[in-house]
Amino acid sequence: MQQVQATYVDATWAVGGGAELEVGSAADGRVLARFRGADAQDVDRACAAADRAWDAWAATSVGERAGLLRATADLVAKRADELGAVASLEVGTPARMASTVHGHLVAATIRDVATTLESYAFEERVGTSLVLKEPIGVAAAITAWNYPLYQLATKLVPALAAGCTAVLKPSEIAPLTTVAFFEALAEAGLPAGVANLVVGTGAEAGEALVTDPRVGIVSFTGSTRTGARIAELAAPGITRTTLELGGKSASVVLDDADLGQAVSASLRGCLINNGQTCAALTRLVVPRSRLAEVERLLVDAVAQLVTGDPRDEATDVGPVASAAQRERVLGHIEDALAQGAVLVAGGPGPVDGAPAGGHYVRPTVLRVEPHLRIAREEVFGPVLCVIAVDSTEEAVAVANDTDYGLSGAVWSGDPDRALAVARRLRTGQVAVNGGAFNISAPFGGYKRSGYGREGGRFGLEEYFETKAVQL
Ligand code: NDP
Repeated sequence: MQQVQATYVDATWAVGGGAELEVGSAADGRVLARFRGADAQDVDRACAAADRAWDAWAATSVGERAGLLRATADLVAKRADELGAVASLEVGTPARMASTVHGHLVAATIRDVATTLESYAFEERVGTSLVLKEPIGVAAAITAWNYPLYQLATKLVPALAAGCTAVLKPSEIAPLTTVAFFEALAEAGLPAGVANLVVGTGAEAGEALVTDPRVGIVSFTGSTRTGARIAELAAPGITRTTLELGGKSASVVLDDADLGQAVSASLRGCLINNGQTCAALTRLVVPRSRLAEVERLLVDAVAQLVTGDPRDEATDVGPVASAAQRERVLGHIEDALAQGAVLVAGGPGPVDGAPAGGHYVRPTVLRVEPHLRIAREEVFGPVLCVIAVDSTEEAVAVANDTDYGLSGAVWSGDPDRALAVARRLRTGQVAVNGGAFNISAPFGGYKRSGYGREGGRFGLEEYFETKAVQL
C-alpha cells in the first residue's frame, strides 16, 4: 500500500492538512493508497505559488514551453505501461487498453498541444489595431476519475502552453496516475510554482480552489450537477469557467446502414472504459423494422464479452471505479426494469468469476421507451439503451430529445445522408460511419453537457485574454 503526499506546491511534495482519505482498487476493493487530503490552506498556498510564478512563466518563449511539454510527453510515454497498470486498478480500465488511453494517448495529446502552440498566431492586425493574445493568469483545473490524465492533458497542459500557471485538483477517487504525472513534470524541469497539485475532496479543496480570487479561469470535467455548482461559485468573482459535463449520446442507425458494423461499433462506443466515458454512445436508435435483427446482434456480441478482472489481458469489460458508482449503476438498471424496460442482455446479477470485493456490473442492454429515466440520465456504467423509431425524422427527434449534447454517431450506407443527419444533431461531436476520435478537433458540449472546448487550437484559446491595441 502506498502513502501519498497530497500536495505538490512550489515544486515540493507535502502531506495535506485535510481529512484522511483512501484510494480503493476497483478490481478487488483493497486499499491501494492512503493520504491526508489537501485542505483550504493547502489550496491557498498552491494558488499563491501559481500567482508568484506567473509573470516569469508568461514571459518564457513559445519554444521553451513547447520543449518542456514535449519532454513531459516523452516521460509519460516511457511510463505508459506503469500508468496503465495503476489506472486499471483505480479506474477499472481493462489492461488491454489502459496503457493506450492513460499513457500513449496522453503523450500524443501533450505533443499535439506543443505543436499547436508552435504554430499559433499570438498577434494579428485588424484594421488599425494590433490584436494580442495574452495568458489569463492562474488556471484551476478540476478533473474526474474516469480519464484523469487525458483530462489533465486537455486542461492543465494547454493552460501551461498558453503561459498560464496552474493548480490542479484531481478526483480523490483516482488520483494516483496524476501524482505520477506531476513527478514527470518535475523531472522534465518545469520551474517551481508553475504547476501545483492539491489532491482533496470536492467540498473542501475543490470549492476553495474555485473561489480563490487569484484564479482567472476554472476548467472542470465531471457531472452536470457539480458543473452548475462550480459556475455558481465562480460567478461572484466573474471567474471564467469551461465545463465539460455529462452526456447521453445517441448512435443513430439509419435503415440503409451496415447493421453488423453499426451495432458492434456502437456497443464498443458504449462500453469503452466500462461505460465510464462522458462521450459514451449510451443510446442506440434503430429503425423498428430492424429491431429484432439489432437485438440478435447485441445478444451475440454481449455473450462474447469477457467481463472481469481489469488486470487480465483477456478482459473486455472491467469494474466501475467505486462501490458507490456500482450501486448507482445497478439502481438505474433496477429502476428501468421496474418502469417497463425490456432486458435484452446482461442484467443486475453478479459477474461470475470476478474477484471478490471488486465493483463489477454485467454489461447490460435494455430496450426502452425514450421517456424512461434510464434513457434520459447519465448512468456511467456498462449499460446500453436500445430505442426503436419509425422514421429518420423520429430518429433525429429522439436523439435530440435530451438535456445533454456532448456526442453522437450516425450510420448509413450513404455518407451524404449520414452527414445530413449529423448536421441536425445538437451535440458538440458526431462520428459518421465510425469516424475516428481526433485529438486536434474541438471537444465539448451543447446544452447541459457544458460549454467551452478542449483540443487543438480551440482548447488553447480558452486560456487567453484578447487585447486590442489601437495604433
Ligand atoms: P463529480 O462531478 O462530483 O466530480 C468531478 C470532480 O469535481 C471531482 O474532482 C470532484 O472531487 C470535484 N468536485 C465535486 N464537488 C465539487 C465542488 N462542490 N466544488 C469543486 N469541485 C467539486 O462526479 P462524481 O464523482 O460524483 O460522479 C457522479 C456522476 O457524474 C457519475 O455517475 C457520472 O454520471 C458523472 N460524471 C461525469 C463525468 C464526465 O466525464 N462527464 C466524469 C465523472 C462523473 P471529488 O471526487 O474528489 O469529490
